[in-house]
Amino acid sequence: MPLPGSGQAKNQEIFRILPFQQKNEEENMNLSNERKLQFTAIILAAFALIAAVAITLAIQPQETYAHEKALAFQSVEQIRYAKKTVWLLKTADQAADKTIQVKKSRKLQITGVSKNGWSQVTHQGKLYYVETRHLSKDNGYLVVIDAGHQKKGNSKTEPIGPGAKQKKAKVASGATGNHTRIPEYKLTLKMAKKLEKELKARGYQVKMVRTKHNVNMSNSQRAELANHAGADVFIRIHANSSASSSVSGALTISPTKNNKYCKKIYKKCNSLSKCVLAEFCKATGAKNRGVMYTDTMSGINWSKVPVTIMEMGFLSNKKEDKKMNKSAAYQKRMTKGMANGIDKYLKRD
Ligand SMILES: [Zn+2]
Repeated sequence: MPLPGSGQAKNQEIFRILPFQQKNEEENMNLSNERKLQFTAIILAAFALIAAVAITLAIQPQETYAHEKALAFQSVEQIRYAKKTVWLLKTADQAADKTIQVKKSRKLQITGVSKNGWSQVTHQGKLYYVETRHLSKDNGYLVVIDAGHQKKGNSKTEPIGPGAKQKKAKVASGATGNHTRIPEYKLTLKMAKKLEKELKARGYQVKMVRTKHNVNMSNSQRAELANHAGADVFIRIHANSSASSSVSGALTISPTKNNKYCKKIYKKCNSLSKCVLAEFCKATGAKNRGVMYTDTMSGINWSKVPVTIMEMGFLSNKKEDKKMNKSAAYQKRMTKGMANGIDKYLKRD
């Protein structure tokens, strides 16, 4: 049995110990909070690390990619044409800022190409980017050029249009220069070849009805050739003649709006005739005799594609005969004028 004193002492001891234990518990609690904080800090640090790694992984490859793309442009000197209306972009990236809108068939200076499908465009001294798949080597338009007449006319007849009863000579002999004595068929082929060269330089595809004098092609056959080719423009080059040597100037020929063969193309023929004549007269200074409307031309009536006849000037007029046949400078102006008219009609100007 314990002594009463010793029991008291023990109790006292217990009382002494108790605060100590409480203190220990407090310390334990403090320790536990510290651990929690440490744990939280570790978790946060881990999250931060993961986030940093993720951000690094997410950003760095793009930067490297863009960097590689920039490096991957091989320097070139090319002329290309827009296949459709496109935007020039600030960087080689589909999401890049749009800058300048370029219309279909517009000419672009390409100064770099990348293997991953981008082209670098130099425009007004600045660099832009466009996807190579939107570019083409040609401007997307086909022009068929008919050098009027041939070495020998063909007086055999053909209907003036599909199903027509009225007939006309398959192809007339054409006029001759009053002063130069040069036949029309020679001038028309010379000009057709110059126009072919000019149009090709502007990115057009060109098909020639004839490239030599000694052919036998009727006017309807010439139109069928343009139809078959699917020409966007069919231009027939001629020179005029009048009983009066004082008559001068240029004109183009369009079907009338009542032409039963040309219902589908009348509007386009009218527009083409106006554009070509206006630009021809602007470039050459020739007198503008206006668009002539007639439904008697077999080569127009048989045409299913936009067509015009360009009568460049009068071979019966000494001044125009000399200019058209003998002046290389005037021939250049006539060529530019016709090409500008075609550009204007196709809204490429
Ligand atoms: Zn003619």
